[in-house]
Amino acid sequence: MFYKSTRDSSVKISAAQAIVQGISAEGGLFVPSEIPSITMDEILKLGDMSYSERAAFVFSKYLTDFTEAEIRYCTDNAYSTKNFATENIAEISHLFDGTYVLELWHGPTCAFKDMALQILPYLLTTSVKKIELNKKVVILVATSGDTGKAALEGFADVPGTEIMVFYPQDGVSAMQKRQMTTQDGENVKVCAIKGNFDDCQNGVKAIFTNEEIKQKLDDAGMMFSSANSINWGRLAPQIIYYISSYAELVKDGEINAGDKINIVVPTGNFGNILAAYYAKNMGMPVNKLICASNSNKVLTDFINTGIYDRNRDFITTISPSMDILISSNLERLLYLISGENDAQIREWFGALAQTGRYEVSDDVKAKLKADFVGGFCDDVQTKAVIKEIYDKYSYTLDTHSAVAVKVYQDYKAETGDMTKTLIASTASPYKFSSSVLEAIEGQVPQMDEYDMVDKLNKLSGYAIPASLAELKDKEIRFSESIAKEEQKDYVLKALSL
Ligand SMILES: *Cc1c(COP(=O)(O)O)cnc(C)c1O
Repeated sequence: MFYKSTRDSSVKISAAQAIVQGISAEGGLFVPSEIPSITMDEILKLGDMSYSERAAFVFSKYLTDFTEAEIRYCTDNAYSTKNFATENIAEISHLFDGTYVLELWHGPTCAFKDMALQILPYLLTTSVKKIELNKKVVILVATSGDTGKAALEGFADVPGTEIMVFYPQDGVSAMQKRQMTTQDGENVKVCAIKGNFDDCQNGVKAIFTNEEIKQKLDDAGMMFSSANSINWGRLAPQIIYYISSYAELVKDGEINAGDKINIVVPTGNFGNILAAYYAKNMGMPVNKLICASNSNKVLTDFINTGIYDRNRDFITTISPSMDILISSNLERLLYLISGENDAQIREWFGALAQTGRYEVSDDVKAKLKADFVGGFCDDVQTKAVIKEIYDKYSYTLDTHSAVAVKVYQDYKAETGDMTKTLIASTASPYKFSSSVLEAIEGQVPQMDEYDMVDKLNKLSGYAIPASLAELKDKEIRFSESIAKEEQKDYVLKALSL
């Protein structure tokens, strides 16, 4: 197997190269040359394995240039109780009749991004060695909150790496800021930028593409890389938990081997749901993939009309990790269902860059609808469903997962589809305590973030994640705040260049 680019099908590189490079030179995303298959026998055998073993088995089908020992080194380091609060790593909770919640937030930062960012540093450093670059990898991250912390936790003290995270001084929540500024690790740096998220991101991009800085790094035996969600090394790990869950549901007698299930995913950049599409195409029995959006419903409209149009107001919601108008990973799906038509992808994504809009053909539209259902809900509905599920089932949802539950309820009411369904839950309710408390109690809580956590603990009965509880007494290590013009010098100084 090799990897090609969605904008140039003639590109042919190894998995290790795809992971190191991140994005193809012409701007396309890397995809495997074919989707490997998994048999029902293989899926059933996973039932008796640990999560790390399951992950290694699935990875062996995609990372064909990695040795078994290399893959095990990566999965064992990432998926252990050292990093995750549960031995199952991805926990399944039975919500109500035939409906299961896949809790992807038992990792160190309490959000599903840990599932990929805990392993990416190992995949990346192993890849660098494999292609004999022998360079130290320097990761630069611009963050609006969640990704920065997940990347810091993943890369902290990983040999052969340095990580620097930039966040907007007034653009993250108090808890997110505390999570980042108290980060442990000898190889980490965290810095506030006096500006907004775009300033952070533009600064990082400018540094990435600055030839003079690149040369300086090269001379010193270092290279830049990105922990961005378009890296194949972040997508592949997400395929695993869907297949693992299927094996688990069969093992627990909840479904029979061969039964189809629906999968519902609260979606932003389209990475998580695309991983479920890969699992389906590998051979896991799936009926519908239900793509749930908040009020930024670009994807709902796209699935229903075949027209992608980002020319609309950006709405700030209580599920901020889904406040996205350009879903990058959709490009991979369209490449696959347009018959790997790279010219067509260049045309559509060229139009998206220029006019903010493109429309797919009837054939592609039909293929899209065969697999996907799109739905959305607003903040009022999100809060109502948190309250409803809390009252009825004593289960506390975070705001993102609640969007998925609501969209699924609407789908079920409309279609009468009784297929058993797995709902991806992407964050711990503790991460969004204020909105969750408001939903349950009907009023905005007037207290600081730790009192909110205590209150939510009393209401939900869920253990407070150790990683959030310990923040209160942790020393602030990074309090620097700089102007956006100073970002370049900050990076050079931090690397002693
Ligand atoms: C990133 C994120 C999402 C969106 O996932 P995508 O893969 O970008 O679609 C949903 N929920 C939470 C909590 C997230 O952090």
